[in-house]
Amino acid sequence: MSMLQTLFRLQTLDSSTDAIRVRLYEIDRALAESPAVNHARAELQQAESALRSLASELKLLELDLQGIEQKIKDEEERLYSGKIRSPKEMLEVQREVELLKQRREQMDERIIQQMEELEQLRAVRARCESALAEAERTFADDSRQLREERTKLLAQAKSLLEQREALCAVLSPTVLQTYTELRKRKANGVAVSVVKGVTCSQCGEALASSVIQMARHGEQLVFCDNCGRIVYAS
Ligand SMILES: [Zn+2]
Repeated sequence: MSMLQTLFRLQTLDSSTDAIRVRLYEIDRALAESPAVNHARAELQQAESALRSLASELKLLELDLQGIEQKIKDEEERLYSGKIRSPKEMLEVQREVELLKQRREQMDERIIQQMEELEQLRAVRARCESALAEAERTFADDSRQLREERTKLLAQAKSLLEQREALCAVLSPTVLQTYTELRKRKANGVAVSVVKGVTCSQCGEALASSVIQMARHGEQLVFCDNCGRIVYAS
């Protein structure tokens, strides 16, 4: 292998390692939390809180109703007790009982209405619960696959590192340093560009024929005039 061939091989390994690193980062993020699970959990919490507040409202209505029923009972007992002497008072009590019965009827209706709403909310909660369970199942499945992928990628990265060390051992420190610094400077981490026809494959600019020739020879560092990358001709 010529020096440039070795360098190009190193670049290929490093680019693969970069891609693995990016994927590992994505995997770790995906394993940390699931937006779908979070969303389903928030929906369930919302349904539960709506259910709780309606249930306590209903409880209060039922207590009010009990109070009204007790009043009706008390007033009717007074009516039939024979203790009321004046017809005026009798009429007043009768009127009061009528009003109380009207209120009772209205409350009954509201209670029935709220009980129906409560049923609907229970159905919503049940739906949210199954959606959450489903999202958690999917997340668990995905996580299992991601962990498998992670293990494979770590093994690949380890093997790439071993191959890298072997390549670095045959390259001169100066060449390695130039390569490493170029890689740091380039946004995509590509320091070695392959000649494609007569152009640099990384920046697309035409290369001088002397540059191409040196790149073919492969034993000396040669650079693209435009992007500054090391040029390699296969
Ligand atoms: Zn270039």
